[in-house]
Amino acid sequence: MKRKTLLLINPANQLRPGFHINRATRNQPLSLGIIAAITPPGWKIKIIDENFRDFKFYEADLVGLTAFTSTAPRAYEIAAIYREKGIKTVMGGIHASMVPEESMQFVDAVVQGEAEPVWAQVISDFESGTLKRLYKSPFAKEINQPKPRRDLFHPGYICAGLQTTRGCPMNCSFCSVSAFNGQHYRFRPVDDVLDELEEVPQKFVFFVDDNIIGQSRESKERARQLFEGIIRRGIKKLWISQSSINFADDEALLKLAYRSGCRMIFLGIEAESEDQLKEANKKLNLSRGSNTYRQVFRKIHKHGIGVIAGFIFGWDSDTPDTIMQRARFAVNCGADSFQTSVLTPLPGTQLFEKIVSENRLIYTNFPNDWQRYDYFEPTIKHPVFSSENLYDSISKAIRHIFSPWNIILRNMKTLWNTRSFSATWILSLNYWHYRNIFLKGRKR
Ligand code: SF4
Repeated sequence: MKRKTLLLINPANQLRPGFHINRATRNQPLSLGIIAAITPPGWKIKIIDENFRDFKFYEADLVGLTAFTSTAPRAYEIAAIYREKGIKTVMGGIHASMVPEESMQFVDAVVQGEAEPVWAQVISDFESGTLKRLYKSPFAKEINQPKPRRDLFHPGYICAGLQTTRGCPMNCSFCSVSAFNGQHYRFRPVDDVLDELEEVPQKFVFFVDDNIIGQSRESKERARQLFEGIIRRGIKKLWISQSSINFADDEALLKLAYRSGCRMIFLGIEAESEDQLKEANKKLNLSRGSNTYRQVFRKIHKHGIGVIAGFIFGWDSDTPDTIMQRARFAVNCGADSFQTSVLTPLPGTQLFEKIVSENRLIYTNFPNDWQRYDYFEPTIKHPVFSSENLYDSISKAIRHIFSPWNIILRNMKTLWNTRSFSATWILSLNYWHYRNIFLKGRKR
């Protein structure tokens, strides 16, 4: 009997390349690798990954798509090509999970939430001709995730993606992680993570967790077990991840993180002043105060780890002065690299609900306009600025942060702060990448 073909598609934003502009900031489509791993053995599977190559038609029996909000229009466009030929399409991922009613208009079936518990049912229903419109998946207590089929990923990825936890209880106003992955941290068994890590071919690893050490005693203990396991098994990778500012609280844990290969950590700083942190509902940063950031970075540096600080521009309380003040604060706060974004209301966030209720979305021709919701352009009607003025003001601030002079100075400081050539090298690449993403990555 001829094997059926499952085609999995990772679409790219057709308006702007964003993170695609640099190879090092492209992320492997982990969810598609996991879907491939849990598909019954009788299926032939192929991934089309627009991070590297534009979509070209490929014969398939069933098509699976994933998408962020900004890539959803492209996913729908590709789905339409298959649906016209009578080929069934299934969509999952964060956008379809947040607005399933919209996605159901453009694909045959939607998986809302985590696909692992329901994928076998999707395949079995497809095979029996009874595919449902919506598959809802509850949050599993522990993440029972198989190793993704890495053999199907494009070989051009510099950094391997790997997930060790899901969820975040912080519920920041602009972030959809708590809605998508749940408000409770859920862990993968440490040995599963270590087994997978041993098989990853890349030297560089991005632990895609939203918060690698979490907030609770249990989550920190679990991070300690992970770092110790990497050291004990002699796994020689350099890794980066994301955390909140409490990453700096435990020096013993920082030491272990470095020894296990951590060279860079992304911290969501968002803003330096109380007004904007309140808007962000960034409770931890608010409770500690922005005057502690420098101390946090210093502690992390002491252990040879560099810091990427994330800043957001375009809060309601922002004015031309506060935007420039944030840029100056960023340059002087002691961080090594920056991720700068324009405040963007994504479906599933408190921010989105608020902005919709106040009728302040600038672009509403959905789904096409979702491609503008990618953190590079104002999408909210601002109380003070016109969208052009807001963009100009933010551009000026970001050019200040990423000025060529700052990069030279910063590299020297990073080397001095971390005493680590590998951390300095990774951070200087990162600095250029983020600079390019904002300054060159706005137009395709
Ligand atoms: S921004 Fe970070 S801390 Fe806040 S909810 Fe999202 S993942 Fe959690």
